[in-house]
Amino acid sequence: MSPFSLFHKMNRVKLELFLDLPMPAIVSHLRACGLLRSTLMCPKCAVPCVEYQLKKSPSWPGCGWRCNNCATTFSALRDSWFSRTRIDIRPLLRMLYAFSWEQASFRSVQHELRCPDGSTISRQTFVDYCRYVFYSFCKVCTLSLFPTISHYSDCWAAYHRISNIGKYTHLTVNHSVTFKDKVTRACTNGVEGMWQRLKLGHKRRFGTHRSQLPSHIGAAVFFIRHELEDRFEAMLRAISENFPIK
Ligand SMILES: [Zn+2]
Repeated sequence: MSPFSLFHKMNRVKLELFLDLPMPAIVSHLRACGLLRSTLMCPKCAVPCVEYQLKKSPSWPGCGWRCNNCATTFSALRDSWFSRTRIDIRPLLRMLYAFSWEQASFRSVQHELRCPDGSTISRQTFVDYCRYVFYSFCKVCTLSLFPTISHYSDCWAAYHRISNIGKYTHLTVNHSVTFKDKVTRACTNGVEGMWQRLKLGHKRRFGTHRSQLPSHIGAAVFFIRHELEDRFEAMLRAISENFPIK
């Protein structure tokens, strides 16, 4: 059974039970899923590093790698998708869970990440995490979907040159005759539904900055593709497959 099966149909209660585990157990499960590296060679000495545990306040990750030759320590997050994150694994996974179910608002994440002393993340940090997660979705969708895409459209004259762009297969359906071409099976209902979802998100955000448009389209495509699956599991699996540890 794949280690990812642990995240299958995971709800908030199961997620909290997982996050209650000791940090080494959480890290070891993320390693089994390929989200963190399982071995590390010291770049200076070219010898295998050993697992290393910080003695004080084991916050994320709290454990890492140590070269016994030169005594250099390395983070457990090294080269992983998580290496750019600066917050603890527990609020981070809660935030990813909220993102995967499109429930992440600034107020809810601010509440989730509030420390005992009352401090929490700023709006700018939240926006940075949104951009990072949405950019990842964009990359995942670009890599896995677009190389094999078939483009369906109606017969509007401006679409006629689409087949000249890249390797797209362009099929058309004449809406004055039918809504599904009997020969090519081309139909625009799917893409119209996708546009409707995209425009709904656009309205909910009170507009989308043009620089963030590809990321939001990537995220919407990812959500639509995994609509009937467990999105949290699909998201972690996509991170593992599309951001492999080198
Ligand atoms: Zn070394």
